[in-house]
Amino acid sequence: MQRPSSLDAVIVGSGPNGLAAAALLASSGCSVHVVEAHAELGGGTRTAELTLPGFLHDVCSAVHPLGELSPYLRTLPLEQHGLRWAHPPLSVAHPLDGEPAVLLRRSVQDTAEGLGVDGRAWQRLMDPFVRLGAPFLDDLLGPLRIPSRPLSMARFGFYGVRSAVGLTRGLFEQQRARAVFAGCAAHAILPLDMWMTGAVGLLFSLTTHLCDWPMAIGGSAAISRALESYIRAHGGTFETNKRIESLAELPESRVVLFDLAPRQLISIAGDALPSGYVKRLSRYDYGPGVFKIDWALSGPIPWRDPECARASTVHVGGTVEEIAASERCAYNGEHSERPFVLVTQQSHFDPSRAPEGKHTGYAYCHVPFGSTVDMTARIEAQIERFAPGFRDVILARATHSPADLERYNPSFIGGVIAGGAAHIGQLFTRPVARLDPYSTPNRRLFLCSAATPPGGGVHGMCGYFAAKSALKRLRA
Ligand SMILES: Cc1cc2nc3c(=O)[nH]c(=O)nc-3n(C[C@H](O)[C@H](O)[C@H](O)COP(=O)(O)OP(=O)(O)OC[C@H]3O[C@@H](n4cnc5c(N)ncnc54)[C@H](O)[C@@H]3O)c2cc1C
Repeated sequence: MQRPSSLDAVIVGSGPNGLAAAALLASSGCSVHVVEAHAELGGGTRTAELTLPGFLHDVCSAVHPLGELSPYLRTLPLEQHGLRWAHPPLSVAHPLDGEPAVLLRRSVQDTAEGLGVDGRAWQRLMDPFVRLGAPFLDDLLGPLRIPSRPLSMARFGFYGVRSAVGLTRGLFEQQRARAVFAGCAAHAILPLDMWMTGAVGLLFSLTTHLCDWPMAIGGSAAISRALESYIRAHGGTFETNKRIESLAELPESRVVLFDLAPRQLISIAGDALPSGYVKRLSRYDYGPGVFKIDWALSGPIPWRDPECARASTVHVGGTVEEIAASERCAYNGEHSERPFVLVTQQSHFDPSRAPEGKHTGYAYCHVPFGSTVDMTARIEAQIERFAPGFRDVILARATHSPADLERYNPSFIGGVIAGGAAHIGQLFTRPVARLDPYSTPNRRLFLCSAATPPGGGVHGMCGYFAAKSALKRLRA
């Protein structure tokens, strides 16, 4: 379909948030055009043969509880546009030295049975939220506003405001529950003794009881392809291989939504924004980056506890103290000798990812912003610790340092994968404190990336709320 000569909206960047914004605007009757720097749409949701022919690796995002539970994405008929989820029997396995792995299962009760004396405390913590189901996330995944379930949100806030370390010490007596909660909290990419990291631990633990952390069949690119197909069906148009450097390069439109980092917004549109706002944007805190490895494997990862092979995600890092030390290192500009490693094993549940009998492996750890240290040996040693013989099944590997990630996607400034630090100073007030964080002082320009609430992850909610804000402007 040809682009109309006069557009309502241009979206710069086609990550999940750019596509979600385009989907809402196009389905609301607006003419929408998406401009993308890369040859392929999708931002953090692309899939490629990074190692050997026939091995399909998720270049960035891999596991999608927030995608399946997303208050916006779950309203779209994405299955009709080709998206299918592969569900593992277990969401998370957390191996520990010398004892069985801790397993986060869909059932709270079954999970609690593996937590010994802390099982009751786990149930008391999770049950009230799990009973509310996925709609409870509607209040969590968005900007600061009056919640639709104020009492439940107050309960969530009561626990979540604490640090993950403080919360686990207060709630649990033993290592197993503390460690598995800490693994979920480490998705915050922040020191676990920081305020509000308890909220991230609670959110990610909760999602294991609301869905089985799924992967997209065929690779994460299936998510962006389904969104692209939905947008095209509503008249939206696309342009790839076009990296925008200035506003002058954009086609005429009534509004522009940037699915980009604040630093990029300054470079492209700084001249069209008041200097005070630009100054505040330039103070944005990006937080730590990541170092990632993909492997082509001759067989599955030989976990010492075979239950680990049944989980889409394995949190490799041991005790809460070890995980907290590793996350503190990355935040302080240091490199942990024993990093906390997030491992996913897509080919176990989606055979299309690897040739018959072979497997893919995917892992990353958090490192300082812009780090240039090669973490390959340390990541593989951590996996070997819980899966002796792991190195023997490696056929090939591809690594991505923070600089590689930023080259691949200029929005991943310094190798930062979740749009910027999600600490208390920036969780709701990203990119700057503003009543409508998606708008800018320029009435034509909006930000719709993970640098706006609710932040990182493939849920499209930043794009959804930015598009709602832009729609208001278009209809005014
Ligand atoms: C290694 C890694 C692992 C991850 N794992 C998960 C996971 O398992 N689950 C999960 O939910 N999330 C995960 N994430 C996070 C998730 O991918 C991001 O939070 C999400 O992609 C952010 O979406 P976005 O739309 O805001 O931006 P992005 O996905 O970053 O998209 C921005 C787009 O803008 C384009 N662009 C940049 N500059 C320009 C320009 N000047 N002109 C035109 N286009 C431009 C880029 O090419 C890109 O396509 C992971 C990310 C990484 C890197």
